[in-house]
Amino acid sequence: PYEVLIVGAGPAGASAAIYAARKGLRTALVADRFGGQVTETVGIENFISVKATEGPKLVANLEAHVRDYEVDLIENQKAIRLTQDGLYQLGLASGARLSSKTVLISTGARWREMNVPGEKEYRGRGVAYCPHCDGPLFKGKRVAVIGGGNSGIEAAIDLANIVEHVTVLEFDTKLRADEVLVRKARSMGNIDIITQAQTTEVTGDGNKVTGLVYTDRLSGDSHSIALAGIFVQIGLVPNTEWLKETLELTARGEIVVDQRGQTSLPGVFAAGDVTNAAYKQIIIAMGSGATASLGAFDFLIRQGEE
Ligand code: FAD
Repeated sequence: PYEVLIVGAGPAGASAAIYAARKGLRTALVADRFGGQVTETVGIENFISVKATEGPKLVANLEAHVRDYEVDLIENQKAIRLTQDGLYQLGLASGARLSSKTVLISTGARWREMNVPGEKEYRGRGVAYCPHCDGPLFKGKRVAVIGGGNSGIEAAIDLANIVEHVTVLEFDTKLRADEVLVRKARSMGNIDIITQAQTTEVTGDGNKVTGLVYTDRLSGDSHSIALAGIFVQIGLVPNTEWLKETLELTARGEIVVDQRGQTSLPGVFAAGDVTNAAYKQIIIAMGSGATASLGAFDFLIRQGEE
């Protein structure tokens, strides 16, 4: 059996694997796809100490760093079940099973999409999901934020300091964000809020976003807005569907972890976007991967004494 079995090879899993291997632990890293969300990222400007890089470049560096250590890298495998019989058993969709003394889950999350025409085509070319990451690319331009929950209104306030103008489009009759955020947004001169607005299409010139079309759900009329960017803020969905019966999750499906990254099951740790960490970023995922890996090491040395 392995001593540390890591599920998911984004920044959190890669960092956890290196930390575990450096402790001399028998380590495996199993993933659907190496690199995770970073694979889809165009420009990265907030990975501290690297002024600017691109997703695929960072993924290649991550993989090279992991391969420098004795880590069994098992790619193109999807985990579907976690059970326990003295050791932890990870069931894979292929039918195979891996056993380990500890398990570290870093299966990440995915942004909920609007599923409208144009969204996929213009992803990374005006359609964005992360204001911390892509906000500065729209300096001095007009953008929209889709979604009037806390993340949507926070994004609008954040973006309003950088861009020329922000239009918030909320599907419901009222915003679901906290009152204090709504008040702050309304007090800023360059944020418009439109409720009962259903976005129906992202428009573009073949190269980049030029605007969007929405339907006013009250009148049924269709309107278009000219924009350089569209930030979709309708939820981040953690990849934990396969763990619902196994671990304590928040109402949103995030894995609940303690300060050492341990979950509700002793010996099972989690890190990165899949957890209830307050913020989801590459540098944060890497830090929490290191934390969870050291947590697993601590767990193993204490077990050895029994
Ligand atoms: P992920 O990167 O989501 O990796 C999850 C891993 O788990 C993958 O290997 C996946 O294949 C695997 N996996 C999932 N389910 C299973 C399963 N059942 N079985 C096996 N494997 C599984 N952050 C920044 O700091 N700066 C940026 O500029 C930035 N830009 C972004 C742009 C975009 C378009 C997106 C989508 C995100 C961006 N982010 C950015 C956020 C950042 O990418 C994430 O915070 C980070 O990747 C989270 O790392 P993670 O390791 O927790 O999960």
